[in-house]
Amino acid sequence: MSERIFIGVAWPYADGPLHLGHIAGAYLPPDIFARYHRTKGNEVLMVSGSDEHGTPITIKAEQEGKKPSEIATQYHQQFLDSWQKLGISFDLFTNTSTANHAEVSCDIFLTLLERGYIYKATVSQPFCPHCQRFLSDRYIEGTCPYCNSSGARGDQCDECGKPINAAELIDPRCRRCGTTPQFKDSEHFFLKLTAFEDRLLAWVKQQTHWRQNVLNFTMHYLEEGLKDRAITRDIEWGIPVPLDGFDGKCLYVWFEAVIGYLSATKEWAKSSGDEEKWHSFWQSDVKSYYFIGKDNIIFHTIIWPAMLMGYDDLNLPHDVPANEFLTIEGKRLSTSRNWAVWLPDYLAHYEPDPLRYLLSINMPETGDSDFSWREFIRRNNNELVATYGNLVHRVLAFVYRSFDGCVPVPGELDIRSQALLNSAKDTLDTMDGLLYHCHFRKAIQSAMSLAQEANRYLDEKSPWKTIKQDRQASAMALYVAISVLSCLRTGLYPFLPFSSQRLHEFLGFKGSVEDDGWQLRFPSSGQRLLPPEPLFSKLDEGLADEETSRLGHAPFQ
Ligand SMILES: [Zn+2]
Ligand SMILES: [Zn+2]
Repeated sequence: MSERIFIGVAWPYADGPLHLGHIAGAYLPPDIFARYHRTKGNEVLMVSGSDEHGTPITIKAEQEGKKPSEIATQYHQQFLDSWQKLGISFDLFTNTSTANHAEVSCDIFLTLLERGYIYKATVSQPFCPHCQRFLSDRYIEGTCPYCNSSGARGDQCDECGKPINAAELIDPRCRRCGTTPQFKDSEHFFLKLTAFEDRLLAWVKQQTHWRQNVLNFTMHYLEEGLKDRAITRDIEWGIPVPLDGFDGKCLYVWFEAVIGYLSATKEWAKSSGDEEKWHSFWQSDVKSYYFIGKDNIIFHTIIWPAMLMGYDDLNLPHDVPANEFLTIEGKRLSTSRNWAVWLPDYLAHYEPDPLRYLLSINMPETGDSDFSWREFIRRNNNELVATYGNLVHRVLAFVYRSFDGCVPVPGELDIRSQALLNSAKDTLDTMDGLLYHCHFRKAIQSAMSLAQEANRYLDEKSPWKTIKQDRQASAMALYVAISVLSCLRTGLYPFLPFSSQRLHEFLGFKGSVEDDGWQLRFPSSGQRLLPPEPLFSKLDEGLADEETSRLGHAPFQ
């Protein structure tokens, strides 16, 4: 029976290019998951969009002497381009500047207000006497009250991932001029998280299928006791508070960005011509997955679920498979020090599948993992090219030459050949179970084991030699090898969509891998192959030093 799967993906701030940490953490995993479910014949909706509001954008705009909207539009376009080149297959990638998003956000705000889950209070807010303005979120910095690291902001500490209220910061200062802020009264709205504490705790306790890191982090946070959180800011750039008398105040970027999952679904439904279709992904039998980096866990396991509970009758998350962090050449990724590999830069020089391969087989699922250029080149050359690509090419090129470009007739299979086909079938079943439970790393490993097994099989059978004495034996071995390629085409498709689609065509299949379904399909004897070409290219090992030496220098724009 087909399932309905909603995939919400973290909304990137449109304040700079994406880097490999973003991709490994939040963007590649949902794409693998979406492609897998689509191939299974399930109904998938994967949405996200650019987060165009909040202080990250206004700070960048001030630095570059531009309007916030110009910055947001520039990076939104760049994101769309990156998704297309890397093959991140969103059903909709929108942004938070749409009228639809403002409307949905205001509806949730006003509904929660009416139900008493949002209340108004006067609070003292940091105000810079030198700049003559309130310092919200990233305009104020200081030391984290939880982990003592410096450089914590007025909304969150990047070091320990905890949300912070500006008043809690130790040694606060204005980010623009360094002045110690004064505190002035300002009227704001608060989300009454305390009202949801018991319900959240009971709900989280049932989520035994969540990743251990996500469950532990969330439980720990809940056990410390929730605090109500301000959800409006003294800032001009954003969605204005939809009430009279609150000029110069906007909805807090985090409050409205998570609403984007719902507003994007509504936008997708409208553009599909059936405005009511959004219900089928929010109010019926559907599993909702949220793919995010570990710094966003609380927003997706506590704050957004609380908002959904308060709004009522919308589905809560089924799973929040947050990834850990990616380090670069053994060091923590830092955008300010340019210790990062920027995605547009990568895509301008290399193919998408080798990166998707490395980030999948080395995914930071249960702990941090490292990206190094040396490892990238090693895995490309030794695994993608030598193990998988070479298997494909030596089989297809030989069959194309020696069997008139058609899949040969196998005759009766021997035990060894039958065993390999069984192993291919098992691999697809194993991968099915692993992908279903978001174990991406193990899933791609089992596909690569099958490729290794097929290489051993061919070394034993050497059909290129036996063809001279026993054409039938050669035909059988090649037919079996082609069937394994057909299996790998399907199993690797979620990870390596570009090369899998090419292999699909080389094998003489029509349409797309997705349409073909998650099944081990044996090519028919006589099926016409396309002239094969290598799926991957070897990379020069010298590139590792060249690329590594660029880290930590002038940033790529
Ligand atoms: Zn200042
Ligand atoms: Zn901290």
